[in-house]
Amino acid sequence: MVAKLDRRAGDPTLTHAHSLTHSFSLSLSLSFVRQALAHGCISPRTIFSEISRYERANGANKSTYWVIFELIWRDFFKFYALSVGDGIFHSGGPVGKRKVWEKDPNGSKFRRWVEGRTGWPLVDANMRELAATGFMSNRGRQNVASFLCLDMGLDWRLGADYFEHALLDYDVASNWGNWVSAAGLTGGRVNKFNIYKQSKDYDKEGEYIRTWVPELANVPAEKIHEMKLSIKDQEAFGVQLGVDYPVPIKSVFKFGGAADDTKRFGTNKGGAGRGGKGRGRGPRRPKLADYEH
Ligand SMILES: Cc1cc2nc3c(=O)[nH]c(=O)nc-3n(C[C@H](O)[C@H](O)[C@H](O)COP(=O)(O)OP(=O)(O)OC[C@H]3O[C@@H](n4cnc5c(N)ncnc54)[C@H](O)[C@@H]3O)c2cc1C
Repeated sequence: MVAKLDRRAGDPTLTHAHSLTHSFSLSLSLSFVRQALAHGCISPRTIFSEISRYERANGANKSTYWVIFELIWRDFFKFYALSVGDGIFHSGGPVGKRKVWEKDPNGSKFRRWVEGRTGWPLVDANMRELAATGFMSNRGRQNVASFLCLDMGLDWRLGADYFEHALLDYDVASNWGNWVSAAGLTGGRVNKFNIYKQSKDYDKEGEYIRTWVPELANVPAEKIHEMKLSIKDQEAFGVQLGVDYPVPIKSVFKFGGAADDTKRFGTNKGGAGRGGKGRGRGPRRPKLADYEH
């Protein structure tokens, strides 16, 4: 595995793969190592020392920079979990905030999210990829988590619990730590993701959506991100909303409403959090810091 790591550090495609990972396309970057890392089969120190050795011999590049940066996030969540104890599992998170979640007595809303039938193409594509492969990109995870907690208003722990069941790289601290922060319960800034904008920015042509949501195979790029299709459009693109593909679930998010902490913390129009420009609390590597994911 170490030899493979050494080869990949200098792989010119790795930079590209990394940028894809942070959009929605099938991920390559450290895919061969992520499960091994999550399950303790390789240590982050080994990866760090191999990358440092490579950097000493060949110089640093964006790929080596980002891998180490991501490992620091891994550490961050380990230490965060240690510092707040079982707070990462509580409904109100480590800050103990009282939240009223939307009611879902028979679990049908939650099932729509799990099965990728929300009618929000980007969310559905990511959820179907997860169900089929056991993986989802970091940007995908941020979007579907924000959607479940803030747009659907459902208890974030349902999502964290489902990820625990479905992710091949499941890790207690990374999963529950990222989820509780997606729900805005860490006392830091809340990142409300604008799903449609994220979809346009990171899957411009809609290729990722069409891969996982074949019902939308004939919908053109300019109409695929938000399902506002007229009857004429539906006929032209061979998809009937409510029959072939669901009518979008209505977002319950209201500026100034119960789930809205953006007054306090600012809106995340571009999708900040750890993957965007305006990073919340967390580690920061000093160099190359202005390079956006
Ligand atoms: C809601 C949510 C749940 C998540 N659940 C998990 C989980 O159960 N297990 C897990 O390992 N990661 C989790 N992550 C973090 C991150 O999404 C994955 O580590 C990343 O997608 C793995 O992709 P990669 O192998 O291409 O890693 P790269 O981007 O190449 O990063 C290399 C390694 O750094 C670590 N890493 C990267 N980003 C993060 C992060 N935000 N937090 C913690 N570690 C990170 C991982 O160990 C990863 O394998 C979660 C993120 C979110 C938003």
